Amino acid sequence: MVKAEPILAARGLGKSFGRFRALSDVTVAFPEGGITAIIGPNGAGKSTFFNLISGAFPPSEGRVLFRGRDITGLAPHRFARMGIAKSFQITNVFPHLTVRENVRVAAQARTVRFALFRDRSAYPELTERAEALLAAVGLGHRLDRLARELAHGEQRALEIAVALAAEPSLLLLDEPTAGMSPEETRAMMDLVQRLAETCTLILVEHKMKLVMGLCRRLVVLHQGQLLAEGSPDDIRAHPEVRRVYLGK
Ligand code: ADP
Ligand code: MG
Repeated sequence: MVKAEPILAARGLGKSFGRFRALSDVTVAFPEGGITAIIGPNGAGKSTFFNLISGAFPPSEGRVLFRGRDITGLAPHRFARMGIAKSFQITNVFPHLTVRENVRVAAQARTVRFALFRDRSAYPELTERAEALLAAVGLGHRLDRLARELAHGEQRALEIAVALAAEPSLLLLDEPTAGMSPEETRAMMDLVQRLAETCTLILVEHKMKLVMGLCRRLVVLHQGQLLAEGSPDDIRAHPEVRRVYLGK
């Protein structure tokens, strides 16, 4: 069998904040397609790792590779241009724009690089694309609402639509269900599953149960280090994971 090149890989990745070592020596590869979840207890270093692999800030040590290409330390917009999109743990939309405008602006930002931004004829097309993306994330009925009027779960879905407007091949989500009600959580997990049909997803989640049935691979961080990686079955049976993560 030919081993497919991973879409993303971390090699010896580490991050210190002053004297505090939040992450050390994490080497892990993410396969193309499907969902890989990064799990671990609070403070394990998940968001730090997420920020390093999404280019939000540079690592103290190590490299990040996208399709085999070293992208360590590139500016965030270069990550975006390569097809890496992310949504943060903190919501990140323009509160005083409508839902439709939020996504249209994002879709427009993408076309800037094709020098279409002065072309007003592209406008209806962008609106159409924005509406299609919003329908896909379940916000088709909220197009004219201001973003700030949305419920928390809807804002997270909007944020994902904004990320999708860049047509990413890799989508990174940091705890997309944080602060959500059970119904919102279910809707978000359904959405995540649907998104994985068209792009590779890397999902940070501290609720292990939530991702077990969803992802094909898990990466477990603990105290800033890689504790385990493997299939859901591997992780469920992993003695160290059971001890430190499940308290068994
Ligand atoms: P997780 O997302 O798994 O809950 P984080 O990556 O947010 O964990 O944090 C890992 C550790 O690094 C925590 O102890 C946290 O307090 C610390 N940390 C995270 N960001 C910073 C920062 N900017 N400055 C100092 N310490 C930080
Ligand atoms: Mg976090």
